[in-house]
Amino acid sequence: DIYGSERKNSRGLNMNIISEAAPFFKTLEPFLHQQWQAGPLIGGETLGGESQPVVSPYNTQEQVGRVVWTDGLAVKQAVTNAVAAFPQWCRTPVATRAASLQKLADLLEENREELIALCTREAGKSLQDGIDEVREAVDFCRYYALQAKKLMAKPELMPGPTGELNELFLQGRGVFVCISPWNFPLAIFLGQIAAALAAGNTVVAKPAEQTSIIGYRAVQLAHQAGIPANVLQLLPGKGAEVGAALTADARIGGVCFTGSTATAKAINRTLANRDGAIIPLIAETGGQNAMVVDSTSQPEQVVNDVVASAFTSAGQRCSALRVLYVQEDIAERVIELLKGAMDELTLGHPGELKTDVGPVIDATAKANLNAHIEHIKQVGKLIKKVELPSGFAHGHFVAPTAVEINSIKVLQKENFGPILHVIRYKASELQQVIDDINSTGFGLTLGIHSRNEGHALDIADKVNVGNVYINRNQIGAVVGVQPFGGQGLSGTGPKAGGPHYLPRFMTEKTRTNNI
Ligand code: GLU
Repeated sequence: DIYGSERKNSRGLNMNIISEAAPFFKTLEPFLHQQWQAGPLIGGETLGGESQPVVSPYNTQEQVGRVVWTDGLAVKQAVTNAVAAFPQWCRTPVATRAASLQKLADLLEENREELIALCTREAGKSLQDGIDEVREAVDFCRYYALQAKKLMAKPELMPGPTGELNELFLQGRGVFVCISPWNFPLAIFLGQIAAALAAGNTVVAKPAEQTSIIGYRAVQLAHQAGIPANVLQLLPGKGAEVGAALTADARIGGVCFTGSTATAKAINRTLANRDGAIIPLIAETGGQNAMVVDSTSQPEQVVNDVVASAFTSAGQRCSALRVLYVQEDIAERVIELLKGAMDELTLGHPGELKTDVGPVIDATAKANLNAHIEHIKQVGKLIKKVELPSGFAHGHFVAPTAVEINSIKVLQKENFGPILHVIRYKASELQQVIDDINSTGFGLTLGIHSRNEGHALDIADKVNVGNVYINRNQIGAVVGVQPFGGQGLSGTGPKAGGPHYLPRFMTEKTRTNNI
């Protein structure tokens, strides 16, 4: 770790320790009943207007608050403000920018319960996921703040034979558009923003429409931490309208996007076709993530890691396991244990600690996932479909499901939910397995279970992915420890929470001085 003892990950909360859990629940309580109002934050003002209700994924009759969407005129105004704010922010000493982000990290921790309540109520995330979400957001702020100071405090001297003073400066690029997903409505939302701000850019952020309130509160906290109003603005709204208008604006200097591969490609086309500079797109997209389990592995541990990888967050992580390859010698045993482990999953209200699997994000997601389950049951053989919880008639619950199939090629797209596909393979077919995984074109995460280290490392080397996990689950990358992001259809890189992320938000200037 190049940052040595200066860098520490936050530790979150441990719900098994009563002295941590008790005050947490006490502070959380009022936020379980609160109603929030959110809207575009432009020039430091919250725009009013016609508002939409925001409801909980576990119960569409429970309202969380209301949100005002951004209109086209406001998009233009926000970019105008951000362009005007850039020269000063980019010349603000990096230590000052970093201090604001450090302060934001502290404010996130101070407001942890409200943010976790919002993660649960607006995004349907479990309490543990909410705790982890705040922890990751804090880590992103602190990591990029520290990294920006290391990289930008002084120009780099470029000694050479010419006799002049040669210096390399790193600077912000201009207005960065940050478009983020609902599955990490705080961590990815703020991760993108913190990186762009630390590097000296001004930011116009568009949160996922499903999680506008969390984004709104996060931006309010950033302003409270000292980030000027026009340096960070928020435009809640639909991707097809607000996102499209923002990315088509000739004045922006870069785009950071996490979401679907199709949308990333659409943004790329928009950027290419618009007037204005050639600017970077940093995109983190989907996956068709596999785990390869050979006959030397230990079935109990495998199943534990499979269940965590496939069903945590109701499978709504781009890192989540979708295709489990099991060597045939131990396949029966693994499948038997998997059935038992799935029986033990507790489905229900995400606000209860005992819940393992909560709802999916909305009615469209539920319909698409259920349609896939019906389809894939015909193509393959059902292993297990968990009973839905009772008492959630108005919730978007999808039954965790495992289906045995013959080939990864029957999967046409990423299925972003609690659906696991299982494929048996023979030892002699391993190369084919590797080729098949690579043939999807995605390359995000890969799990490997094996007691044979050489074998595991060989698979790790041959599969084209961004993150490989050996003998553990394949979700929950830690900032600064497991830089996260994929290749191919899974994204452009650089990896979030890694040492090469920030420079992509910067431009370079060489100054040769012969005075
Ligand atoms: N970083 C997350 C993980 O490692 C996944 C991020 C995403 O789903 O976009 O599980």
